[in-house]
Amino acid sequence: MAYRPKIKPCGTAKIGTGIYLSWNYGVYSKNIFVNAKMQVSGPAASQYIANQMKIGIETCWTKLFRDGFSIRSEVDMLYREDHRRFQPETILYVQEANRIQIIITYDPGPSYVQVLKREDINGICVRFHINNEYDTHKIPGRIAHEFGHLLSLDDQYVEFGKGNEPRFTKAKPGWENNIMGNIDGILESRNVEEIFKSHCTVNDDDDF
Ligand SMILES: [Zn+2]
Repeated sequence: MAYRPKIKPCGTAKIGTGIYLSWNYGVYSKNIFVNAKMQVSGPAASQYIANQMKIGIETCWTKLFRDGFSIRSEVDMLYREDHRRFQPETILYVQEANRIQIIITYDPGPSYVQVLKREDINGICVRFHINNEYDTHKIPGRIAHEFGHLLSLDDQYVEFGKGNEPRFTKAKPGWENNIMGNIDGILESRNVEEIFKSHCTVNDDDDF
């Protein structure tokens, strides 16, 4: 049977911890507003990095496109100074329950979004690594990319390099300039359209 999710003309949704959407989806304009509550902590964290992350997300994820799609993002970013030992489990215990945690360390390897699910913990956090392999001077672009994952967008690149080989990534064809294919990439209207399809639909199976 035809199953076609239809986008609701307007609505609000909470997508996981700390991210709230509201939208209007009309014929000519399709606007989405994202409000994110986040908290930065960890051994490599600082107020400066927290500010850079807020600006990086809001700048990348606020945009008006010619085809009528638009998005505006606001981040309520809290920096928490904490000198305890940082372990993912304890961080999720002490986290403010209504904020997405960004844990900044000097660990090697690329940054990623981590979902921790146990019977007593249900948390999502961004493990953000400050190291000279990938991220050092690209905090705004990197966190803007990770923010795409928090909005449930997938990577649009392929990864090469195993074991001790250096890791590198290559955007999938057609995604070279896109934020999900390349951290130097930009937000495009198809990313916003994807968010509508993922979070703003009603199930409607008698319309085909
Ligand atoms: Zn990614």
